[in-house]
Amino acid sequence: MDVEEMLETYFERIGEIPNSDRFIQCIQCGTCGGSCPYGMGTLFTPRRMILAVRAGIVDEVLSSGAQWLCTSCFTCSLRCPSQIPITDAIIPALRELSLLEGNPPEELAAALMNIARYGNSFRESPRKRDKWIKEVDFEVPLISKKKKAEYLFVTECFGAYHRRCKEITKAFAKVMHILGVDFAILGNEERCIGDLVRLCGEFGLFEDLVEKNIRVFEKYEFDKIVTHDAHAYNALLREYPKFGFEKEVVHHTQFLYNELEKLKELFGKLDYTVTYHDSCYVGRRNGIYEEPREVLKAIPGVKFVEMRRIKENALCCGGGGGGVWLDSFIKEHIKERPAESRVKEAASVGAEVLVTACTLDVPMFEDALKVTGLEGQLEVKDISEIVLEAIES
Ligand code: SF4
Ligand code: SF4
Repeated sequence: MDVEEMLETYFERIGEIPNSDRFIQCIQCGTCGGSCPYGMGTLFTPRRMILAVRAGIVDEVLSSGAQWLCTSCFTCSLRCPSQIPITDAIIPALRELSLLEGNPPEELAAALMNIARYGNSFRESPRKRDKWIKEVDFEVPLISKKKKAEYLFVTECFGAYHRRCKEITKAFAKVMHILGVDFAILGNEERCIGDLVRLCGEFGLFEDLVEKNIRVFEKYEFDKIVTHDAHAYNALLREYPKFGFEKEVVHHTQFLYNELEKLKELFGKLDYTVTYHDSCYVGRRNGIYEEPREVLKAIPGVKFVEMRRIKENALCCGGGGGGVWLDSFIKEHIKERPAESRVKEAASVGAEVLVTACTLDVPMFEDALKVTGLEGQLEVKDISEIVLEAIES
């Protein structure tokens, strides 16, 4: 593609994304770059990306690789005075050009290829998606057998296949089981929900996933979707309705908060100082701030402390927007990854447990503990794991 074709493709794509015409209202204030966790390490902040597109030098942005450094943390979009959809439009459309040019980072290309072929980024058989249900001591019903349930529990790829994230899936399923909730899973009929695919600019694959997933959802009778995956929650809440799928979607932090009175009766005592990490797509993107804090504060014996950067100002774990697949690329460009800075911040306020509410957070932060030497001093747990521990204590 020559630069003119690139610009034409770019404008065609952002033209399809709501509010992206605000692009022309960029006042070059620099708030986005100043807010970005990678602002100091990139040649092209969102401000400079917009300037480069205006100047017709989009090829220079693409060759710098700056489009792949964005973690889709949404800070710039939230703070931009012109309300430009940087995270949902400006950057994914640049990434699409990079994909069309055939030069995305290798590890990301492999993850996208695996999702297209296998329905998950792990290159695992779809038949193994519900293998985790054989590793628990209670029954996890399949909706294909049950036919009807109040909650359809969407585990998403990390929750179904990743060694550590599966433990979160099991913990949340066990909490629902103990509460006697009427839930079921799709098992091997579930495939990637696709939010990271969308944010990576693979719009064709995202649409394909949405259409296939909706066809499966429509086979069964359920009232709501519940998920512990922040990106699945975001896509089901904000993107799937654009394709005609409208069901109530509940994040597991909201679910736990709604069940808090029942949970309080079951809670024993824990003895931890904990802090809470606001995941970007639970907090900043979707405004869920108080529910997880209320749940944690309700556990007897838990001392709750806040970090310095919280709620809409929380630091990102670095896993969103494809960051979870771009570890080598990020390490090449950045001295200290956001997850490393975040675990240091959690330790500095005296926390023994860093509590998270997005499956991607746990592997990102556990890796950061190893790099920073904080292993043994700080633990990372999902909120459902702490809740289960309190019930079983
Ligand atoms: S914050 Fe918004 S208006 Fe300011 S430079 Fe960035 S994109 Fe432009
Ligand atoms: S979404 Fe976050 S990481 Fe991406 S450009 Fe904006 S501030 Fe930076």
